[in-house]
Amino acid sequence: MSKCITNEIECPECGNKQNFVRWQSILADIDPQLKEKVLNGELFVFHCEKCGKKFPITYPCLYHDMGKHLMVYLTTEQEAIEEMNKILFQSPETFEMQAKQGYVYRAVGTVNEMAEKIMIHDMKLDDRVIEIIKMLILFKSGNEGMDVDSIAGMFYYPGKDGQHQIVIMFNDGKQSFIPIEQNLIKETMDNLKESIEENTKEGYQAINVEWVGKILA
Ligand SMILES: [Zn+2]
Repeated sequence: MSKCITNEIECPECGNKQNFVRWQSILADIDPQLKEKVLNGELFVFHCEKCGKKFPITYPCLYHDMGKHLMVYLTTEQEAIEEMNKILFQSPETFEMQAKQGYVYRAVGTVNEMAEKIMIHDMKLDDRVIEIIKMLILFKSGNEGMDVDSIAGMFYYPGKDGQHQIVIMFNDGKQSFIPIEQNLIKETMDNLKESIEENTKEGYQAINVEWVGKILA
């Protein structure tokens, strides 16, 4: 069962008090409707019934897809990741069983990252390789004269035809879609396999731009 707690919170706009549900854990196989709401961000938005304003709320949430062997932990605190790993390693039998199944554990700091990790995994891709490719695209774009300071974020997003692509979001709200070829994904993994494995720890780990910095250093 997915687990949640309900608290009354006050609308920052009009002061209206209403209940807000925080999902502490989500079992994607059992509650696919919750998975949808993670992907579209709805679970992390407070929508005031009185004034109609919406506010994003990030709270700790553990996403578990048992069928696809993925766990993603959303938290903004480093200590919470260590705590989760302690819990994970405390039951070595479960951990070993999951390791045999090829379980992937990720820690993320934002709702967007959480959705991205799920989509990458659903598309049977390795998020470590995707993060490296994002950095390579950034280098290339910079070399080609793009103002990299105008970039607000880069995310993997699958195209309608199953084409892999990276969407670059700019500060002014514009977006640019960069397709990624299967060849590039394979070559990146082949070329950097050793370094990728060396920098992959057991348990929950953040695989993000800082992590790529270590790989490409
Ligand atoms: Zn309100």
